[in-house]
Amino acid sequence: MKIDLVTIFPGILDGPFKESMIKRAVDQGLVEINLVDLRTYTHDRHHQVDDAPYGGGYGMILKPEPLFEAVDQLKANSGSDSSLVVLLSPQGRKFDQTLAQQLSKEKHLVLICGRYEGIDERVCEMLVDDEISIGDFVLTGGELAAAVLVDAVVRLLPGFLAEEASANESFADSLLEHPHYTRPPVFREMEVPSILLSGNHGEIARWRRQQSIKRTYERRPDLLDKAELRPREKVYLESLKKQQL
Ligand code: SAM
Repeated sequence: MKIDLVTIFPGILDGPFKESMIKRAVDQGLVEINLVDLRTYTHDRHHQVDDAPYGGGYGMILKPEPLFEAVDQLKANSGSDSSLVVLLSPQGRKFDQTLAQQLSKEKHLVLICGRYEGIDERVCEMLVDDEISIGDFVLTGGELAAAVLVDAVVRLLPGFLAEEASANESFADSLLEHPHYTRPPVFREMEVPSILLSGNHGEIARWRRQQSIKRTYERRPDLLDKAELRPREKVYLESLKKQQL
């Protein structure tokens, strides 16, 4: 996969992809991540990327010409027959694990990071394939939102995580993940559940699955509508609901 991030502040994105597991994915060639400075697609002395809004009002708007030129060139240079152009925007559809899964199948992503009051609407209409929001709040720019999206997508690329590591993760199967414990077995009089020390892997798997269901019911019951539960697990969920009455 190739990901191009178009921004007027590439320095903001210097750090997130140069540490830890995303760096390893880049080093291993699972993904190529390029920071693209929008100002390099301007042709005036001041490298102007923004201008005042027509109709008046507060703030500045990113101009269409450099964005069109940048995206056209990135598509042409991608070496891929398909590119998906995404604008990070608080007005976009909400990012989640399902969307991250879908994006992880793309060969070439172009992520446009907005700034100031936003970008010229003609970019949204003619250049952008999808607008994505990372939540119902307003950031000063799209860079941090893009970093969140890249992190969530890259860790889903084949070869990034061991298969078993992703199988039980939160949102897989529409459930939250079970709780984890590590050494020591007793800490400040708090004990690790004895089942986890039993060595009985069948019982441990069953306990973890029940904890997943319980945690999802307590914290995110909205997810349970889509969860595929076995008959025995449905009975367990019903018993949890009865306990609440
Ligand atoms: N005036 C815009 C509005 O009210 O919808 C907000 C512009 S915001 C200050 C500047 C840029 O930050 C946006 O163009 C977008 O790229 C990014 N941004 C802000 N909040 C975001 C969010 N929740 N998700 C994704 N991108 C966001």
